[in-house]
Amino acid sequence: PYNFSPGPATLPEAVLQQAADEMLDWHGSGMSVMEMSHRGRDYGPIIEQTEADLRELLAIPAHYKVLFLQGGAQAQNAVIPLNLAALKPQRQMDYVVTGSWSQKSAQEAAKYGDAQVVADAASTHAGAESGYTHIPAPTTWRLRPEASYLHLCSNETVHGVEFHELPDLSALGSQAPLLIDFSSHVLSRPLDWSRVALAYGGAQKNIGPAGLTLVVLREDLLGHALPICPSVFDYRLQAANQSMLNTPPTYAIYLAGLTLQWIKAQREPVGQGQAELHGLAAVEARNIAKARLLYDCIDGSQLYENRVDPACRSRMNVPFFLRDESRNAAFLEGAAARGLLQLKGHKMVGGMRASLYNAMPLAGVQALVEWMREFERQS
Ligand code: PLP
Repeated sequence: PYNFSPGPATLPEAVLQQAADEMLDWHGSGMSVMEMSHRGRDYGPIIEQTEADLRELLAIPAHYKVLFLQGGAQAQNAVIPLNLAALKPQRQMDYVVTGSWSQKSAQEAAKYGDAQVVADAASTHAGAESGYTHIPAPTTWRLRPEASYLHLCSNETVHGVEFHELPDLSALGSQAPLLIDFSSHVLSRPLDWSRVALAYGGAQKNIGPAGLTLVVLREDLLGHALPICPSVFDYRLQAANQSMLNTPPTYAIYLAGLTLQWIKAQREPVGQGQAELHGLAAVEARNIAKARLLYDCIDGSQLYENRVDPACRSRMNVPFFLRDESRNAAFLEGAAARGLLQLKGHKMVGGMRASLYNAMPLAGVQALVEWMREFERQS
């Protein structure tokens, strides 16, 4: 079967197999990783290697800290204002809204101060049915000169809208640090850290199981937390304690580490006589090919449609609709019978959604496209 769930999502089979093999006795230690002290001799190298591999794969600069936290991406919607609202005395927080997740972020931040939506895709695109189908041009964002930061969601999981290029805020005349929610496309492509001061995400799509929240941030963002910020969510305290102010999600970190090793080992041929791609570049090439296959199928059909501006269609989450919605149940039933699982769209948007995270092989998308064509012929 192929699992198209938006998250928690499919993980590489090799990772799950290795975890199963090591479940009861990790490397002859006589313990499961679950049973180890996070401060012990055995666990130390696991978390250190995980951080090193993450830094290598995402080319994280040395002046950025990596934090392994809990609470999920949604906790960060509160944790970010608690840590960063006071970066500037005005305590203004700017939000770009391009889908349901960035909308949630802006709403939560408003509990903690002057959070303002400075661009809203739903209100700038007349006629869009689901609202979020494009990214307003950055030159139209009403950035406030004294804002402590600008927040956006670089891949909207529900609406299928992805920033293929992050804005260069300095070119827009802003000094504000850019903060991104990269939950649903982290490690699917490289990241330009010259444009990003902080990136955060839940692990349960491309990294591992739920329970781990990743925060990568520039060192100058440490040390600005409001006095009411819980200590376990204070970036400075967690950075000073190597994410061990409290017990980190040890097993989820271990599984993330296995996934990172899997990404590092990936290879993808480019073409005759050319060097093959390695690691994240290989994964990205495969993601591009998978997304192209599915979008081409949708665009070339009379039955299916995707309403997102092609300039910002997500590689990871592809919402699509049957023009004849009365056929939805039959489509899903036939898909499930072929082992094509979890294709029902989010209730906010309706229709279908196929999530094509790193662990989804090209063969899974080929099987989906074959079913879509067959179903269209039957219709
Ligand atoms: N942000 C994005 C882009 C997401 O896709 C999700 C979950 O699907 C979240 C935030 C919320 O994550 P969590 O459930 O870990 O709080």
